[in-house]
Amino acid sequence: MISGSRSVAVIGGGTVGLSTAYALWREGYDVTLIEEQAEVGRVASFSNGGQLSYRYVSPLAGPGVPLEALSWLGKAGSPISLNLKMDLNQWRWLFSFLSACTRSQSDRHASELLKLALASQKQLAQWREEGLDGFLWRRPGKLIIYRNIEKFRKASCALTDSRTQHVLGAEGCIAVEPAFSGLKSSLAGGIFTEDEEVADCHLYCQALLGKMQNSKTFRYMQATAALRPSANNTDQCEVLVNGRRIDTRHIVLAAGLASRAVTKPLGIDLPLYALRGYSLTLPAIEHATPSVSVTDYDNRVVYARLGDKLRIAAMVDIGLSSTRQQETRLSQLRTLAAQTLPAAGPYDTATPWIGARPATPSSVPIIGRTRWKNLLLNVGHGALGFTLSPGSARRVVELIQTEQ
Ligand SMILES: Cc1cc2nc3c(=O)[nH]c(=O)nc-3n(C[C@H](O)[C@H](O)[C@H](O)COP(=O)(O)OP(=O)(O)OC[C@H]3O[C@@H](n4cnc5c(N)ncnc54)[C@H](O)[C@@H]3O)c2cc1C
Repeated sequence: MISGSRSVAVIGGGTVGLSTAYALWREGYDVTLIEEQAEVGRVASFSNGGQLSYRYVSPLAGPGVPLEALSWLGKAGSPISLNLKMDLNQWRWLFSFLSACTRSQSDRHASELLKLALASQKQLAQWREEGLDGFLWRRPGKLIIYRNIEKFRKASCALTDSRTQHVLGAEGCIAVEPAFSGLKSSLAGGIFTEDEEVADCHLYCQALLGKMQNSKTFRYMQATAALRPSANNTDQCEVLVNGRRIDTRHIVLAAGLASRAVTKPLGIDLPLYALRGYSLTLPAIEHATPSVSVTDYDNRVVYARLGDKLRIAAMVDIGLSSTRQQETRLSQLRTLAAQTLPAAGPYDTATPWIGARPATPSSVPIIGRTRWKNLLLNVGHGALGFTLSPGSARRVVELIQTEQ
């Protein structure tokens, strides 16, 4: 077992846990990564939208969102669906979410997310320069297309970087991405951002693990970890695996949605909620599959070419829905994609995936210390976990370094 003053146990082998483990390992820490699934990156990080969307990080909670969400309720293929439950956690989360919808809160959260996203872009670029590869990374730029003229005008006035972001008319959009030529007459316009990236999140997790796997300062455990207060020290907690305590100086919890249950024995009640979403993956077809990353704003559907595949992702479902409801949502996504990009199908044979984003009400992840001095959290990355994980990992390293 790896132990000593530079030992860290990271719980969770999704994009956040693996990025954290990698960032610490690169800095010379002795890292134990604990993941309960048979493979890393199989839960929320498996088949997501593949967007490394550094400039489009607005929180879900924003002014106008509650009204817009109400107008969508019950509509087939709507970007948001709400299933109210007799569930205190859901109601508390929704209440905090509504409180975060004011202009001032939303602007503050957007600026925190932008800062973290830009730090992530820089961190990932450094790791790539050092040789991290094999996860279908590309920088094709992102095109956001708008059918609604008002929304297009509003977005055109809110650009954050006029050097890399370009406002385009319908023809300009088609020139950037000819695969969408069938939509030309219905487009109000679009915004193209040059340095946005795409990659495969599951392969990213595997690539990070591959870099560390044969190192003497890295240990991988396939097991379910639990936390409990330390018997000998009132401000420390300990990690248990198969009922046995792991000897480690620091613990970083990055177990996605499950983090809520893992911290319960420590008296920590994390404000995390599952926002379910859906993706389809299908073989790419030359000239029919978009090359740039595309967001269809009105339908809130994203399209990313990942190697020889097309990944399409969408929808935020709040509240557990039945298997039948989930099948309906997947079939609505197939219909939306077929209407938007007919030649890239057939969509009925696309591989479906249903995932749950581990979301905080504000969309800002929880990265920091707890009242348990040896425990740090890196959780709650919601709709942007892939984008934000390298920067979040860097923050954890800085927090651990400043403590020493
Ligand atoms: C439809 C959809 C599309 C998305 N598209 C994008 C996108 O385009 N770009 C983007 O940036 N983000 C996107 N996201 C969000 C992103 O996928 C998530 O934010 C991210 O995967 C969360 O990563 P995580 O590591 O926190 O959680 P997870 O990937 O769920 O990892 C947590 C890990 O912890 C493990 N674990 C849990 N409990 C324990 C335990 N007790 N012991 C040991 N291991 C444990 C789990 O098995 C799991 O592997 C999307 C999400 C969805 C659902």
